[in-house]
Amino acid sequence: MKITDIKCAVIASSPVIRITTDEDITGWSQIETPKPYMQPIVLQLKSWIVGQDPRDVERVMRRIRVRGGFKPFGAAVSAIEHALWDIAGKAAGVPVYRLLGGKVRDQVRTYRTLYQGELPGGAEHTPEGYRRWAEYGKSLKGEFTLFKLPTSFHSSMVRDFPNYFYGEVQTDAPYPYPHKGLMTKEGFDHLVACVTAARETLGAGYNTAVDAGPGFMPIDALRFAKAVEGLHLMWVEDMITGDYSPYVNPDVYREVTRSTTTPIHTGEQIYLRQNYKALIESHAVNVIGPDPCDVGGIAELKWIAEHADLHGIAVAPHGTANGIIGLAALIQMSATLPDNFIAFEYPARFEPFWYDITEGFEGMPVKGGLIDVPDRPGMGVNLLPKEAKKYLSEGDADFFD
Ligand SMILES: [Mg+2]
Repeated sequence: MKITDIKCAVIASSPVIRITTDEDITGWSQIETPKPYMQPIVLQLKSWIVGQDPRDVERVMRRIRVRGGFKPFGAAVSAIEHALWDIAGKAAGVPVYRLLGGKVRDQVRTYRTLYQGELPGGAEHTPEGYRRWAEYGKSLKGEFTLFKLPTSFHSSMVRDFPNYFYGEVQTDAPYPYPHKGLMTKEGFDHLVACVTAARETLGAGYNTAVDAGPGFMPIDALRFAKAVEGLHLMWVEDMITGDYSPYVNPDVYREVTRSTTTPIHTGEQIYLRQNYKALIESHAVNVIGPDPCDVGGIAELKWIAEHADLHGIAVAPHGTANGIIGLAALIQMSATLPDNFIAFEYPARFEPFWYDITEGFEGMPVKGGLIDVPDRPGMGVNLLPKEAKKYLSEGDADFFD
């Protein structure tokens, strides 16, 4: 079997990849929703992969892996890897989890990030706002039992609370994360009060994580982690480096992690196992959160999860904007991860029309915070050209040709 072509169309700001073969088998994959600019970066990899046998996934990846980087630049290579596994599974007539060594669980747990904008009027960064926010989470379809709240430097709290930190507040700066600095006592106490309010409102039967940076000075990261020890959070994410940081800083993380019982988490921006090596081997964090759409693919993530397990580190894969095809990849991969797997982040941000333009899911697949692992060949989700065509832009009109 040989790869004949790779195409990439942007549908609702999400790049969708289509790899075709000389045996009429098509591989599908998807890049995070806010990355339409990855389209030309996907297409420039064409000459490296056309003519290769897509079932020799690692052999193909060895040709293109050097052409990726930290988030967002690992996305093209990662998504191509997903499409190769999709083809390999379809060619063998088996779900992808079988090719990764088989599943170790029939259901995978998924956690739900709660977004401020989801609440009518938005969730205010006040204790009362966080109580409303937590109640909203409990009311969601899917009966999620683990929630993550964006807060502190990972939210508009930095702007909304006066004198939150010692630094210039950027009111017009675009995402991501222009703020960093030592927090004031008032800002610090406000953050603790907000997170405590959410945790207490969620109550028994629910667990809570917070996504808080990057932007903390290490001493504030430690002070915060210690202040919330009594809340038994599942993790605090990305306080020092993280989302879109083009570096890791494991030595700084380690200083914080060693001095608190609150689990410290990072990793969604990191590309490849080599860049996880120091983080894992120095026990710099308690939980890692690689994203299969950024880290270099699902086999790469499985390798990292196993390396982490050897070192007593848990894994909660990131995936908030990975879309419906990215969801399929998260499920197949998570079914095969070792016991250090906590839950993956549910890609909650895709529009309902994606269920109409794909086959695989009959609507939101989460029940009791769990998803049954499907047995369809490949990743288990395919685009339906007839239905999807109307969502193509003029420039992508030949995507299904
Ligand atoms: Mg994050």
